[in-house]
Amino acid sequence: MHKLTLDDVDVHGQRVLIRVDFNVPLNTSEDGRPCVGDDTRIRAALPTIRHVLDHSGKAILVSHLGRPGGQPDPDLSLACVADHLGTLIEERVRFSSNTVGETVEEVINGMSDGSVILLENTRFDSGEKTNDTAFSKALASLADVYVNDAFGAAHRAHASTAGVAEFMDVAALGRLMEDEIEALARIRDTPAHPMVAILGGSKVSDKLGTIRALSETADHLLIGGAMSYTFLKMLGHEVGASRVEADRLDTAEELYKQAEGTIALPTDHVVAEAPEAEAEALVVEDDIPEGLMGLDIGPATVDAYRARILDAATVVWNGPMGVFEVDQFADGTTAVAEALADASDDGAFSVVGGGDSVSALTQSGCADRIRHVSTGGGALLAFFEGASLPGVEALTDA
Ligand code: ADP
Ligand code: MG
Repeated sequence: MHKLTLDDVDVHGQRVLIRVDFNVPLNTSEDGRPCVGDDTRIRAALPTIRHVLDHSGKAILVSHLGRPGGQPDPDLSLACVADHLGTLIEERVRFSSNTVGETVEEVINGMSDGSVILLENTRFDSGEKTNDTAFSKALASLADVYVNDAFGAAHRAHASTAGVAEFMDVAALGRLMEDEIEALARIRDTPAHPMVAILGGSKVSDKLGTIRALSETADHLLIGGAMSYTFLKMLGHEVGASRVEADRLDTAEELYKQAEGTIALPTDHVVAEAPEAEAEALVVEDDIPEGLMGLDIGPATVDAYRARILDAATVVWNGPMGVFEVDQFADGTTAVAEALADASDDGAFSVVGGGDSVSALTQSGCADRIRHVSTGGGALLAFFEGASLPGVEALTDA
């Protein structure tokens, strides 16, 4: 790794500003108060937090949550996340309702070694997203050491992910960041073959760069989800009322040609008039009748994709195969999750990433059989495309 890691830093007695990705879904608890809906990202940050606490550092956690638009929004406060973290690590986690400023500094200076505080949502300050120098400096003045563990936000050059590092003498990668980069680099740079990439989800336009990059290394690129229909339409199939990005047909054609037989598309589909639980669903082969939408890959496609996945030594998946949020369109996605888990049991190196893909994977109950479940969505796509990650680049060279 070309950047400092926690192993290179002595955190004893130091104020350690840890940028975590606590951008978690919130729910409302029975007593009507906000609570954490899914704590996967919080758990993923625990190795770094525990390392700092175990080595008698003062852990100062910062994160963004949602899109408050540069001003305070009580619905997007991290206060409930502090409580949740406290129950996970069985320690008192203080919360500061200010992100920067004198009061925070005073509280931090009064902290004992091995204690932890979470600061309020960085995006309550308009300087976060503009990577403002004053806000970056204010964050930097809170600590002696900066650690970036927010892989999910590493593709953004914001104050708390990149700007702050400029004003710190020591800026290091956290454990999660190290794990993510190691696993994803193995897919991108040194995959064992046969390598199978499965790409799906809602928009082909989000993932063009990733399709292009993975089609160069993968032996098979299996396409599902709504993005299939842009490809199928380009190939002259009838796609009915399926979601198609008409302005991407040319790009899809160029990609398809360039991939030279690597790209596989669904040959049958679960279709309905609408992506709803009450809609009547049926399976069709090849062309989709007028007025109906393709909402999941069909059983023949599942069998073909499963066989490819079971054959793979490396397998990476981003993007659901259908509208998995609705039960009757979830089978293709569940089958892919199971195939990945079975391939992993047989020794394949498997990686799954993307917010919706990971929630589908969790829903399928197979998550713990996958070798690496990424906390990244946009960051994962950026990484595969070969883009540099500002949140990593800003750190101190090893
Ligand atoms: P990820 O978050 O894993 O990167 P995306 O955000 O790209 O995945 O895509 C997930 C969304 O794509 C889901 O909300 C799902 O309902 C939708 N989707 C998948 N297949 C289809 C389809 N055939 N038609 C419409 N939407 C689809
Ligand atoms: Mg998504």
